[in-house]
Amino acid sequence: MSADLQVEESHMTSIDVAPTTTSAPLVGHWIGGAEAGSATGGLFERRSPLDDELVYRLVRGTAEDVDVAVASALSAGAMWRAIRPMERGRQLQRIGRLMSASIEELCALEAADTGRTVEDVRGGIVSAIEFFEYFGGLVNAEHGEVISLGDDYHVYTRREPYGVVGVVTPWNGPLNQAARAVAPALATGNTVVVKPSEFTSSSTVALARLATEAGLPDGVLNVVTGTGAVAGEALVNHAGVSLIAFTGSVVTGRAIGRAASDRVVPVILELGGKSANIVFADADLEAAVASAVRAFTYNAGQICIAGSRILVEKEVAEEFTRLLLNEVASVRPGESMGPIITTSQFEKIQDYFRIAEADGALLRAGGRVATRPGQFIEPTVYSDVTSEMRIYREEVFGPVACIVPFSGEDEAVRMANDSAYGLVAGMWTSNLQRAHRMAGRLEVGQVLVNEFLGEHVEVPFGGQKSSGLGREKGMSALRHYTQEKSVVMRIAAGQ
Ligand code: NAD
Repeated sequence: MSADLQVEESHMTSIDVAPTTTSAPLVGHWIGGAEAGSATGGLFERRSPLDDELVYRLVRGTAEDVDVAVASALSAGAMWRAIRPMERGRQLQRIGRLMSASIEELCALEAADTGRTVEDVRGGIVSAIEFFEYFGGLVNAEHGEVISLGDDYHVYTRREPYGVVGVVTPWNGPLNQAARAVAPALATGNTVVVKPSEFTSSSTVALARLATEAGLPDGVLNVVTGTGAVAGEALVNHAGVSLIAFTGSVVTGRAIGRAASDRVVPVILELGGKSANIVFADADLEAAVASAVRAFTYNAGQICIAGSRILVEKEVAEEFTRLLLNEVASVRPGESMGPIITTSQFEKIQDYFRIAEADGALLRAGGRVATRPGQFIEPTVYSDVTSEMRIYREEVFGPVACIVPFSGEDEAVRMANDSAYGLVAGMWTSNLQRAHRMAGRLEVGQVLVNEFLGEHVEVPFGGQKSSGLGREKGMSALRHYTQEKSVVMRIAAGQ
């Protein structure tokens, strides 16, 4: 394992807690079109990052529960893939419409699970709905091709569903991340079992319920709740699962990649990042500052694409830093910025404050827990950071950024690419030729020019290097959720 990623492993903690008898909502599996408990797994508690109040009790899924869910998905498979694609598309559109009609409920569930405000989670939920609208309209877009071998042959390719797709999601944008995989998987004729994060499961279970209410046949979309170590592992190792779509940390992604390679099944891995946000001297500095702050404070920095390495051209570095620190001072934990969603993540961010100090980075803002109840961290900025420092290299997954000056395009490219990750890179410039030149040289899956945080369901998204494998979103997702078959038919006369 590279030094960049070591700290993540040391924070893989369990959330095992004692069962409770309170009347907090019970969140559990959705299998075969109905709620389902667990015969043996018991329950555990999700507590709010705001005040430690009990949010829900979660059914702790077991390998047996995963068996039942996969069996349900397998039994619905032949029927679902045989349906005319246009009809599958209409069904996805109906799910999108019911999600829209239920948006307040979905936002409220996700807000309670994450501690964010309803308004703060709304953008991610709107995009979750758009995944169903978009892929519902694309069901006929992925065609095979006809290949010429001369008049004696008729040769063509088909794109076919894999069968059961196992989807495993993290806690930072739960419904959005589930919808991003579920919608294209269903559009292409697969059936699905989702294992959402144990910390934020309720909106994903609600999605499955709404899908059933919208007419999705039983068994086509199932959810098993529980921990990664038990339900997650059982799902990715299940012989009935033919494709795994995972979003989460690099450490877990590697484990899932190993499990998939043992069974020789494909994986889509959407992992972490340490994204560079590159500001050239010719940029609209005010726009760049406002966006750069949002790029590492939105969802308190708990986004995989967070622009946590702000690279600024030397000529404007001083002015940019002054403007940025001004803007950072207006970000208020608990008002304009939400909490850290899990307790282990809250502790991990504080570890990074100690690491950055020991490594000699200069603290310019924040660097501490906010003085208010709840798991809030002050937005934090470091300067005088060198490329060897862990704060420069490792994903913090909190509202923490470093500012580093550079001279010219070549140095910007070298510094941006000096990372084990390669998810996205931002760039601020008014020079279009430079923007295109740079876009070709950056080792990332997505380059964002003069914007950073747009959520565009139509645009392929995924990582290079340790940030992942495969692509979600856009037409690319249709290819990743289907496998190609070629049919070679000899039609020569006289056979
Ligand atoms: P995580 O890897 O700890 O957990 C993600 C999911 O995997 C959870 O549902 C968990 O229960 C499950 N899991 C854990 N161990 C497992 C195992 N051995 N087998 C099967 N499933 C297992 O990640 P997290 O802490 O929930 O999320 C934070 C990470 O996710 C960050 O690194 C972030 O960058 C990444 N992320 C990436 C994207 C992206 O699109 N690239 C989006 C959001 C988050």
